[in-house]
Amino acid sequence: MKWITLSIDGRQVKVPEGTTVLEACRMHDIPVPTLCHHPELTPTGACRLCVVQIEGMRNLPPSCVTKATEGMVIQTQSERVREARKVILELLVANHPLDCMTCQKMGDCDLADYAFEYGVKGDEFQGEKREVPIEDSNPYILRDMNKCILCGKCVAICEAVPERGVLGFSNRGFDTKVSTFMDTELKDSQCVYCNRCVAVCPVGALVDKNILGKGRLWELEKEEVTCSFCEAGCKFEVNSRNGKVVAVTAKSPSAGRPLCLKGRIGTAFIHDPDLKEKPFVNKDGEFVQVTWAEFLGLGNLGEKLSLLTK
Ligand code: SF4
Ligand code: SF4
Ligand code: SF4
Repeated sequence: MKWITLSIDGRQVKVPEGTTVLEACRMHDIPVPTLCHHPELTPTGACRLCVVQIEGMRNLPPSCVTKATEGMVIQTQSERVREARKVILELLVANHPLDCMTCQKMGDCDLADYAFEYGVKGDEFQGEKREVPIEDSNPYILRDMNKCILCGKCVAICEAVPERGVLGFSNRGFDTKVSTFMDTELKDSQCVYCNRCVAVCPVGALVDKNILGKGRLWELEKEEVTCSFCEAGCKFEVNSRNGKVVAVTAKSPSAGRPLCLKGRIGTAFIHDPDLKEKPFVNKDGEFVQVTWAEFLGLGNLGEKLSLLTK
């Protein structure tokens, strides 16, 4: 592997040839804000928040789609760079609902964190707000497209789910939105509720209903475990509050298999030994409750249950 040397914020660093400027910064713990970037997805440069200043370039290129080259001189925190990022955030916030106080995502929201860091209060531009109904018709995912910042991560990650690609962009300009094919609700689409899209959404546009109202993610104690429901052995985090398991989240949604419904909602077993709360499945377009044994396709439910609660 060939290595190249470049300067970032006055530091000489070495990175493998072919590395993007953003990857180079992250390899050396140099923070660069991003909203549309995910290390497991192809970079698109859509949000442009990761712009940097590079000697010899007139414009500020998005670092996620700019290859680092030998001798490059990069500034990630110059006044010009910070001002450009601030304007991007101001534009995003201008048509955002900003109901942070009651938002499930508060404390884990990239937009709110960057707005704080760049001093964006939402009073610079007066933008039109979207007023679309919140989609709450399926048992697993709450979709509030008023909060969507069109980063595209949910679309890209859903495309990576075998035989899915449920989501895409529709309309243009201010009316651009993320929707399903024919703009149906998720319950009427091919969605399998793997929750990959929820895991990558940087704001509160997509929320796991399992966790809704039980606490914010940062308030919960996390323990990394391996799911024992099937042979795939997905890694995930069990989230607890006051000693009670409230949710299961996938740390890396596209590493190996996505965390499936069995792993995510199987926690009901722990607090409901009689298994009264039965899971939902989509049968011919309708959500119906089925037995846990039917849902999980298990031969020996007791054995699996004891593994889960260990
Ligand atoms: S998504 Fe983020 S910025 Fe928007 S209301 Fe929720 S916490 Fe606030
Ligand atoms: S839950 Fe999974 S299948 Fe459904 S839209 Fe999200 S990523 Fe696609
Ligand atoms: S729903 Fe979330 S992940 Fe999808 S485009 Fe909107 S902000 Fe991005």
